[in-house]
Amino acid sequence: MFTTRFAPSPTGRLHKGHAFSALTAWSAAKATGGQFVLRIEDIDPTRCRPEHEAAILEDLAWLGLDWETPVRRQSDHLADYAAVIEALRARDLLYRCFRTRKEILDHIGNAPHGASEAVRPGPHPADEEARLLEGGQPFAWRLSLDRARDALGEAAWTGLHFIELGAGPNGETGVLPVRPDAAGDVVLARKDTGVAYHLAVTHDDALQGVDHVIRGEDLFEATHVQSLLQALMGWPAPVYRHHRLLTGPDGRRYAKRDRSATLAELRTGGLTAEALRAELGFSRAG
Ligand code: GLU
Repeated sequence: MFTTRFAPSPTGRLHKGHAFSALTAWSAAKATGGQFVLRIEDIDPTRCRPEHEAAILEDLAWLGLDWETPVRRQSDHLADYAAVIEALRARDLLYRCFRTRKEILDHIGNAPHGASEAVRPGPHPADEEARLLEGGQPFAWRLSLDRARDALGEAAWTGLHFIELGAGPNGETGVLPVRPDAAGDVVLARKDTGVAYHLAVTHDDALQGVDHVIRGEDLFEATHVQSLLQALMGWPAPVYRHHRLLTGPDGRRYAKRDRSATLAELRTGGLTAEALRAELGFSRAG
């Protein structure tokens, strides 16, 4: 069954841009008699707040949306993500990275191609790793592109692709080649939380049977990493539909800092959900 989702992180109040994204996904599900899944992506405890989660549910209900229940809250499922890390580790696809953010930035700065170089610090020498482990230093797990390439084999690696039904920021559409190198050896488990965005989102899309990922074009590049993870884990690949980002009167995209555009402020100011839906191009509730 057509299944799509809206997957906000509860780091602030929802604004008009979120409303557009949620309505785009929800309307697509309604139009096909499919399912609309709401997922709370709250794996970053330093930025996420329960009160924002409650506000998200309230704002979306006000907007006239409904969703499958129970709502998956990622922080309730950290063991799931740990199991995926363990599976990738057992296949030797990951390496420990003890480096600090500053060391990584210095590493990029010193690389031959400067800041455009993807982050691929590589494993620590064995003796250094042993010493850091012994000293109880925190570490992240990074995906090794070299080992991923070996694991998939040359033909599968070069044949990696995803289907884009919408468009990326530069109009990319159709059957697109995956560029795994673009993001480098991404962190799949952060030092502090033991999980990271790409891992959690890809795992959950597979688990929840999401076959249409509908989201803003700011996440288009993430598709390369997520497609690679799907191939490595043998998860089904959803089709993607990235949509344009809504911009405010000043021509800039809405951001969480723009308090005036939050749904809560607009509602307090007297805007009705019906009027907002019409403004965003969704004239009927369903
Ligand atoms: N949680 C992500 C965000 O709020 C969205 C993830 C996704 O749609 O893939 O930006």
